[in-house]
Amino acid sequence: MFDDPHDLEILAFFGLIALFEAWERARPARAVDRRAHWRLDVLCFGLALLMNRVSTHSIEALLPVFAPYAALEVLSDVRAWPAPFKILAALVVVDFLLYWMHRAQHRFDVLWRTHSFHHSVDQLWWFSGFRTSFLHSLLYNVPQALVPLFVFRLSPIEAGIGFAIGVLVQLWEHSNVDVDIGPLRHVVITPKYHRIHHAAVEPQNKNFAPIFALWDKLFGTWIDPRSMPRDFPLGLGQPVRAKALPRMIAGV
Ligand SMILES: [Zn+2]
Ligand SMILES: [Zn+2]
Repeated sequence: MFDDPHDLEILAFFGLIALFEAWERARPARAVDRRAHWRLDVLCFGLALLMNRVSTHSIEALLPVFAPYAALEVLSDVRAWPAPFKILAALVVVDFLLYWMHRAQHRFDVLWRTHSFHHSVDQLWWFSGFRTSFLHSLLYNVPQALVPLFVFRLSPIEAGIGFAIGVLVQLWEHSNVDVDIGPLRHVVITPKYHRIHHAAVEPQNKNFAPIFALWDKLFGTWIDPRSMPRDFPLGLGQPVRAKALPRMIAGV
């Protein structure tokens, strides 16, 4: 039915969006005005999608020419693992790299400029998570494409499954759903977990992990979502000036 694995990715993408849209309407965590920034949100959605496609296709095209495959022959045993283990391992490695990338974005001014646009959202729902600057998307897409394709050499269909999981996480962490996942919360992050990361008040610079809560616990940046009130303000703590917007969108 699908000649190109990218078709599957697109199907998974829109299927997941439909799921979160329905879920948020059934069990919203907070009152959200979805129309407040719709023009900006649509623009960012298009940009994030475009950046993802451009970087993935560029890396796919450049890898066979430039990649020092011989340097990674030590990983040949790993590549022989069954697909589910390989996909999980790729997710863990990417997640670890993005945890540190994310911390660095909050630590260093030059990198904060690539990330502040993402923190300008003052209400979170599945669509608002796409508000990322051009440079932010580029920085994140490099490990997201390189690790599965180069390090683990996932097949297109395996990489497509990894991509769908990545989209699921992106929608999940920013979604406005009221959900309790029980003991699983010690393993994977929840929408409330990531909402704390977007707080405009203390505690700030916490809960950086994109998927696995383990990194925050290991490296001392964990805040228990149950210790926070249901409502707290989100965003940068000040309105974004219209003049600053183009630079924030570019991430410079
Ligand atoms: Zn952040
Ligand atoms: Zn976020």
